[in-house]
Amino acid sequence: MKLQGLNKSFGANHVLQDIDLELPERATTVIVGPSGSGKSTLLRSLNLLERPESGLYQLADLQIDFSKKIPAKQVLDVRKKTGMVFQDYNLFPHKSVLQNVIEGPVQVLKRDKNEATKEAYELLAKVGLKEKADFYPDQLSGGQAQRVAIARSLAMHPEYILLDEPTSALDPELEGEVLKVLADLANEKQSLIIVTHNLFFARQIATKIVFVEDGRIIFDGPTKDFFNEQQKNTRIHDFISSMT
Ligand code: ATP
Ligand code: MG
Repeated sequence: MKLQGLNKSFGANHVLQDIDLELPERATTVIVGPSGSGKSTLLRSLNLLERPESGLYQLADLQIDFSKKIPAKQVLDVRKKTGMVFQDYNLFPHKSVLQNVIEGPVQVLKRDKNEATKEAYELLAKVGLKEKADFYPDQLSGGQAQRVAIARSLAMHPEYILLDEPTSALDPELEGEVLKVLADLANEKQSLIIVTHNLFFARQIATKIVFVEDGRIIFDGPTKDFFNEQQKNTRIHDFISSMT
């Protein structure tokens, strides 16, 4: 996917400024930057949860011009191609784990319920939670809930999975189990876009790093280069120092 000339304001606050960005398929892009720099707004724009005032967005065969009204059909198409995983999981509390995972495929994609159920069990096995299929969200740990949210996203077969600080609500011992699932997905070349404050994880998993500061892209390139740049780029240096 690709963004060109993206601008987003909240009132007088110009949160994203002339963003040009390519987010490669079958790779893991990690977005980092200080609090309030615009990372979530950028990620949410990719799913059309935020509507920038201007800019072009290309996603597979879809072309979106944010300065024009986006037809409802295009909104649905973008949402099908981009699965969002939130910091606080957003599971349906009154549905079991299994029901959470099959809800989208059955209701939105109109898939056969038995087939969707079979796949849901495979996805739950993949995230290490097959035995929790009949549990309810309030019976799960945070790490388990987040893995269900990832399985639920995978069940929709999106082209990209977007994750906004997927582990920041978790205790360190639960964070690892979610990071492992994400590392597995990255190895399988699932296209991932992850906002995280965990630079150690970013260094391990990212194909490329996008560093956002004050609504602008300060760095966009291979992971290795980002960490090497800290010797000469004081903004990257200061950011990495502040995080570690
Ligand atoms: P954090 O690391 O703390 O999550 P972030 O980089 O994700 O920060 P954003 O949430 O994208 O930052 O916010 C960027 C700016 O936009 C901030 O100044 C924030 O106050 C503002 N902002 C975000 N969402 C809204 C909103 N719905 N209404 C008004 N202002 C908003
Ligand atoms: Mg955020």
